[in-house]
Amino acid sequence: MRVESEDISYLLSPISTLYSSLSTLTKRVVRNVPKKIPMRQCVGCREMKPKKELIRVVKSPEGQVSLDFRGKLPGRGAYVCPDPACLAKARKSRALERAFSAPLPPEVWEALEEQMKEVPTDAQ
Ligand SMILES: [Zn+2]
Repeated sequence: MRVESEDISYLLSPISTLYSSLSTLTKRVVRNVPKKIPMRQCVGCREMKPKKELIRVVKSPEGQVSLDFRGKLPGRGAYVCPDPACLAKARKSRALERAFSAPLPPEVWEALEEQMKEVPTDAQ
C-alpha cells in the first residue's frame, strides 16, 4: 500500500509552519542587531570612531570651511573629535589642509576653535 501524498503533506505542514515562524523570529532578531556603525578617522588623534561621535568639518563648494554639527552640509568633509586638543593636533599636522587639498587661513582655524568651544557637552 502506498501512502497518499496528501497524508504526507498533512504530516509535514506543522513542521513547515514551525520553520516559517522560526525564520520570522530569526529575521526579527537580525533586525534588532544594530547596523554596522559607520566609522571615521579623527584627523587629530587618527583614531577610528563612530561617525556620530565626531564633528564633521566641511569645505563647501564655495571653499568655505566650517564645522558641520549635523553632518548634512554639502562639500568635502573631514572628521574630528569634539575636542579642541584634536583640532590643535589636526592644525599641527596640517591634516585638514591635506583632507581639503587647500590651505586653511588662520581665521578659519580661529573660527573652528570658537565653534568647537560652543559644542554642548551633552551633544550626544
Ligand atoms: Zn580625535
